[in-house]
Amino acid sequence: MVRESEIRAGELAVDAPKPNHAGLVYIGRIRTPWTSRLETPRQGRHDGPVCRLEIFEPWVPGLKDLDLYKHLEVIYWLHLSRRDLVLQSPKNDGNARGIFSLRTPVRPNPLGTSMVKLVGIEGSTVLVRGLDCLDETPLLDVKPDRCEFTPLAPPQPGDFQTE
Ligand code: SAM
Repeated sequence: MVRESEIRAGELAVDAPKPNHAGLVYIGRIRTPWTSRLETPRQGRHDGPVCRLEIFEPWVPGLKDLDLYKHLEVIYWLHLSRRDLVLQSPKNDGNARGIFSLRTPVRPNPLGTSMVKLVGIEGSTVLVRGLDCLDETPLLDVKPDRCEFTPLAPPQPGDFQTE
């Protein structure tokens, strides 16, 4: 069951340290159709809607050659998550599990990762399918799928279809 920010039976919140290090830079923002956590998919699907990775300057030149890959790993910051629950009850049934055995967005450092399908690149925007985050989620990084680290042949006209 998706949560807003409540504490459920069996869960444990701790006095978490103030997040004041690591110094991440948002390299862009993710545009998706979802504005509520209750409607956002738990994991993305490659037949899901096209979402947009809007890359900020000065990082845009870093998109060069990204179109050599079909699948990308997208890393994002689940910015609306609480960060202090070490035991969580995903089904809200009183059975709590340790956070490191879950892919819950509620974690000390709310990093999200998805392996997405590249649909196309339009200037500073990367179009992908396979995301599961809210509209306006901060983008931290984009990497080629590690299984495809050998570049494919250059893309041919018609390889990418944008909707
Ligand atoms: N695929 C990523 C992973 O496995 O690391 C994230 C999985 S997490 C279960 C996805 C859920 O996080 C969504 O269903 C939604 O409830 C929640 N979520 C999405 N975007 C969020 C955001 N920006 N802040 C807080 N929670 C978010």
